[in-house]
Amino acid sequence: MSFTDRMVRGFLLTELVRGFWLTFKYMFKPKVTLNYPFEKGPISPRFRGEHALRRYPNGEERCIACKLCEAICPAMAITIEAEPRDDGSRRTTRYDIDMIKCIYCGLCQEACPVDAIVEGPNFEYATETREELYYNKDKLLANGDIWEAQIARNIEADALYR
Ligand code: SF4
Ligand code: SF4
Repeated sequence: MSFTDRMVRGFLLTELVRGFWLTFKYMFKPKVTLNYPFEKGPISPRFRGEHALRRYPNGEERCIACKLCEAICPAMAITIEAEPRDDGSRRTTRYDIDMIKCIYCGLCQEACPVDAIVEGPNFEYATETREELYYNKDKLLANGDIWEAQIARNIEADALYR
């Protein structure tokens, strides 16, 4: 750009006018930003968020303590202990996930034959201490109870592709 061009542009405030014009144009377009946390964007049914252990509609735990999730977890984040109940069914006595180790690969969910362990839609579980991210069975079952409706919808939406 020549010296004269720069002088003319500077004198006419061309850059400023173009900047204002751009701002003016975007004033009438739909906003792309969200007022988080009051507004939230859509998330995929495959979103891999906070873990949850699900129950059947009668309240019985789905998990049959087969330990496939524990075996497949590449981060070795899952610890399971199990023993048979009086009725002969096999259930976990301990189901821990170290959420700090977890890499959110989703393999535990893929491996589970009864859709018991899932990665739910919740992504708002930041904590102030590491200890709060050591999840035990009670915490995971409570997550399942809170998110069951949405988890069931997500599994149904994704069923064709599994
Ligand atoms: S998401 Fe992956 S890393 Fe996390 S607990 Fe499941 S299998 Fe392990
Ligand atoms: S959560 Fe699923 S894969 Fe893991 S032990 Fe229970 S039934 Fe088996």
